[in-house]
Amino acid sequence: MLDQYGRNITYLRISITDRCNLRCKYCMPNEVTDVGMKNILTFEEIWEIVRAGVSLGITHVRITGGEPLVRKGCADLIRGIRAIPGVETITMTTNGVLLRTYAASLKDAGLDGLNVSLDTLDFEEFASLAGRQNLKEVLDGIQAAKEIGLPVKINAVNRKELNPISLVLYAQQEKIPLRFIEMMPVGYGKQYVGRSNDELRACLEDEFGKSEMITYQANQKKQISHMVQTLHTKEVPIGSGPAVYYKFSKLTIPVGFISAIHGKFCESCNRVRLTAQGYLKLCLCYDKGIDLRQILRGEETGQNEKNIQKALNEKLTTAMRAAIYKKPAAHCFEHPEEMTEINEMVKIGG
Ligand code: SAM
Ligand code: SF4
Repeated sequence: MLDQYGRNITYLRISITDRCNLRCKYCMPNEVTDVGMKNILTFEEIWEIVRAGVSLGITHVRITGGEPLVRKGCADLIRGIRAIPGVETITMTTNGVLLRTYAASLKDAGLDGLNVSLDTLDFEEFASLAGRQNLKEVLDGIQAAKEIGLPVKINAVNRKELNPISLVLYAQQEKIPLRFIEMMPVGYGKQYVGRSNDELRACLEDEFGKSEMITYQANQKKQISHMVQTLHTKEVPIGSGPAVYYKFSKLTIPVGFISAIHGKFCESCNRVRLTAQGYLKLCLCYDKGIDLRQILRGEETGQNEKNIQKALNEKLTTAMRAAIYKKPAAHCFEHPEEMTEINEMVKIGG
């Protein structure tokens, strides 16, 4: 559906848990109070929201968290989403720690691809940044996904201390597309906002030669997907997000830059976010949105099961349509004092 600014909203990011098995400094450095499973949406509730979303034009769903793989039955949740007519792609963002264990069941459930967050290849730095020593498991998870042909991309947050060269060399060696994300002043991230992606790209040019933006028109999108397809066995939509991809003269992998701060892309934003507790968020910066859990758990007075279901779907769809229509025009990261979102990234899902 189109929002009030004419943007077509097709992408729903769903956080399925507030819990995580890492403690990344810029996201969730400390233990958080457990909100209890009764406050977290059930799989049935998530499916209901996806069904309503699809009727409004959502075609792409990304599962995130917290760490999605710590939620029991994550593959079953994905299988259920896959079965909803109108859902074209389902992807996941994960820290990769549990990926070796679940890669096969995720693929079997119909997952189309994974973004694995990986900020360093240095064991000591990983432990200090993520609060746990799990780098080996993450690398092992990436291998496991590759082995079974589950497309992987790597996401690294552009921190001031980031060593991008080693990550690029690793991605090139493994033939995995890599993206750098500018640190956003959300939650603990405020303390770590770093250099711009343009500065980072200039630094990469010193090592990997001149870079050229990979440009395409909407009808050429497939060509780029094909570029990724040559690296993986299955096509994944490379253009569904805000990444701008570059080809460096000494590299064969595409390197993407998601420049939320220095390359504001709000005009083409196509996404909304669902928190694990059922709040539909319209923009990272603001607390504006709607509590869908309240609607899902409200009293229904239809005559029979089928009528109740239909009434609920209509209620959800109407509420979501009204909320999405009012999606804010743009983020205000450049004026953090105007931000109304007070939650940490772990609660929002990135
Ligand atoms: N646990 C999963 C993971 O780490 O991939 C999924 C949830 S995590 C919140 C999603 C993404 O948000 C990760 O790639 C993480 O690096 C990123 N992230 C967290 N805080 C951020 C911040 N302040 N600015 C930019 N990205 C951030
Ligand atoms: Fe956990 Fe992901 Fe946040 Fe790290 S970035 S603490 S892995 S949710």
